Amino acid sequence: MKTPLCDLSYCELETLVKQSGEPKYRADQLAKHIAAYDGFEMFTDLPKRCTATLENAYCDRPLTERTRVESSDGAVRYLFETQDGDLVESVFLPHGYGNSVCVSCQVGCAMGCVFCASGYYGLKRNLSAGEILAQALYIARDKKDDGGVRKIVMMGSGSPLANYDNTIKFIRMITSPKSLNIGMRSVSVSTCGIPDKIIKLADDGFTGTLSLSLHAATDEKRKKIMRVANSYTVREIIGAMREFFDKTRRRVVIEYILIDGFNDTDGDISELKKLLKGLCCHVNLIPLNPTDGCDLKPCSKKHAYAFCDKLHGAGISATVRRSMGSDVAGACGQLKNRTVEQQRKKS
Ligand code: SF4
Repeated sequence: MKTPLCDLSYCELETLVKQSGEPKYRADQLAKHIAAYDGFEMFTDLPKRCTATLENAYCDRPLTERTRVESSDGAVRYLFETQDGDLVESVFLPHGYGNSVCVSCQVGCAMGCVFCASGYYGLKRNLSAGEILAQALYIARDKKDDGGVRKIVMMGSGSPLANYDNTIKFIRMITSPKSLNIGMRSVSVSTCGIPDKIIKLADDGFTGTLSLSLHAATDEKRKKIMRVANSYTVREIIGAMREFFDKTRRRVVIEYILIDGFNDTDGDISELKKLLKGLCCHVNLIPLNPTDGCDLKPCSKKHAYAFCDKLHGAGISATVRRSMGSDVAGACGQLKNRTVEQQRKKS
């Protein structure tokens, strides 16, 4: 498997150009082609000797589109194939205030949350920074005429903070003026809660939005649906979120999937009130997106709004999130799993 050219940061491109004895401006030429997700055949402004050397060592497009499913609300779920045949999902979400792309950072996931299709087959491997970037670059190119991409959400398959080095490199690359130049404030990172990495993210200068997938306010309940709850307590995780806020002054987001009869009672409101006291946060309530092989049920829309009102009553900022693309295998990992199953049946 060749190294993706888009794995190289601008600094690394400068070093490559210098070591090859080429003039400095070649780094800008390369960065432009990378940002446009061009194939080597489009590098026509570079001398043939340069392109030939690059082709020997690097891969121009590490992801190819395998299939896509378009939703009636304009969301598009892409399934990409990596150089080594793995499948990766990304989603384009159109918004009047700026389109966003939700990217995956791992092939599969080790976290094993019971409501999530991404962890169904476990973790296969981390994606490189370039493979994460390629998802956004491909979609930005594909949706150029629809306004391109203005926001990035790291909420696809995998746990970004469990693939920390590639995640932070990806964030630095995507926010670079030499790449898509996405504003740092327009980048959201989701975590299931790895305290030391939450703090490291703040120390490394991340000032985007940090979203914690909490989903239950007590360790006892959380352990029933999220394997990571066996490693860290909710108190430790919320402590790290408080430290993140203190360092960045950025309000954090608490993601809370509403599961019928499990975490949507008045008792849960009281636990949330205790846990989140004094934390500058907003709670996103997400009615559970049904996934294949999971018996949990979403609560009704009416109940979700009533739960939201009760959180307001408890002094907690909250909204019920609209879930886009649910008519096209909306929960992350489902399109991939269904494709893998179809392949198995055929062979
Ligand atoms: S919800 Fe996130 S952390 Fe949990 S299994 Fe799915 S991708 Fe992994």
